[in-house]
Amino acid sequence: MTKIRVKPDRQRYTFDGFGSEAFPNFLLRGAGDLNNWRLGVYVEAHEGYQALRKALQMDPQDVVQEVRSSGLRGRGGAGFLAGLKWSFMPKDTDNQKFVRYLVCNADEGEPGTFKDRVIIEYNPHQLIEGMVIAAWAMQCRKGFIYFRGEFKWLIDKMDAAIQEARDAGYLGNNILGSGLDFDLDTYRGAGAYVCGEETALLNSLEGRRGEPRVKPPFPAAKGAYGQPTNVNNVETLANVPAIMRLGAQAYAAIGSKNNTGTRLFGISGHVRNPGMYEMPMGTPLRYLVETVGGGTSSGLPIKAVIPGGISAPVLKPEDLDTPMDFDAMIAKGSMAGSGGAIVLDKSACMVQAALRAARFYAHESCGQCTPCREGCHWVKMILSRIEYGKGRKGDLELLENIVSKINMRTLCPLGDAACGLLESIIKKFRSEFEAHIEQGKCPVAGESLLVRH
Ligand code: SF4
Repeated sequence: MTKIRVKPDRQRYTFDGFGSEAFPNFLLRGAGDLNNWRLGVYVEAHEGYQALRKALQMDPQDVVQEVRSSGLRGRGGAGFLAGLKWSFMPKDTDNQKFVRYLVCNADEGEPGTFKDRVIIEYNPHQLIEGMVIAAWAMQCRKGFIYFRGEFKWLIDKMDAAIQEARDAGYLGNNILGSGLDFDLDTYRGAGAYVCGEETALLNSLEGRRGEPRVKPPFPAAKGAYGQPTNVNNVETLANVPAIMRLGAQAYAAIGSKNNTGTRLFGISGHVRNPGMYEMPMGTPLRYLVETVGGGTSSGLPIKAVIPGGISAPVLKPEDLDTPMDFDAMIAKGSMAGSGGAIVLDKSACMVQAALRAARFYAHESCGQCTPCREGCHWVKMILSRIEYGKGRKGDLELLENIVSKINMRTLCPLGDAACGLLESIIKKFRSEFEAHIEQGKCPVAGESLLVRH
């Protein structure tokens, strides 16, 4: 296991030497070494580009099958099978008919999530190698890495790594003599959360407003510039070299049933050791929070854990033995999401937690769908008055009613995400909301909300 601790400036990381032989380590190899991003280090110390050489000896469809057999699921949040998604791209080998695009989604913007930036900062060549393998498998000619706007320092690093790969013949025409022509460019978005949704990302990439498109058509049929396009998350693509190196079977042996490989798990909030850890899929949440995370920083008992970025419904301490994989989290009524757990100790006000999330979603709604645009705004307003001691009788029922009008009635998952956490917090901490409304103050902080704010 490798640990990366986030420093307060949120832009640099230090390596704590937390390595252990107990866990395979694919994504954070060499993390913490400031030279690790260089091509020479990647090739000499990390078997860099060996997986690409192996893939280029294979038929492209066999590479797709290898990724399917590995069971790799998309790490962006939805957990869709990556190889299956690759297989949706047109099989027609007539490259005159289509220009196939490969797009890497580096628009990491979910609160509580900070994994992709670590891969890009320390292992950009692993991402490039994964993208070239994916390009061979799907016969893509052009690739883009779409960054959120704030990641300026990462884009500079990625541009430098791309140039190194070009100079060494890993990008460009006739890569390693295979006949594959593929090149990469970075693209900097404006920093909208909704551009993590693949069709909004594609709109933004084309220079349009970052608004989700109506699906179908799906990107595999009509994506960037109207051409077949595959969009995958950074962490998903960075896993591909490990699959090719180890073989699908060995990769699939890691993790839990139907949730293979390792994953980057982040932990933040009221925790002693916030950071980024690579562990097998299916590792119990308790291990992340108590053993690796060191429990709460205050020493107070844990009150709640939001297990996969703030779209994920909240869990209580009794749920801590849930394995961190896509299926187990759904079975528990939550989501593995982006893998970033947020820990709240007993001093946390759950109304305030819900309000912070609601403010975020109201701000990030693109405004296309009335239920999301209006609903998120009103959820924020009602939660604000409850939090500020002005809640009214019936506000909880009103919130539940609004949530029921947003859920499953929107173009993209942002609307549903806005509801998931709120619904679960109201359900599991209802008495706290009722106390705010009845007493006009926070039962946790024990003081007037108007004074506290
Ligand atoms: Fe935009 Fe919200 Fe509709 Fe998504 S759900 S398309 S963010 S208005």
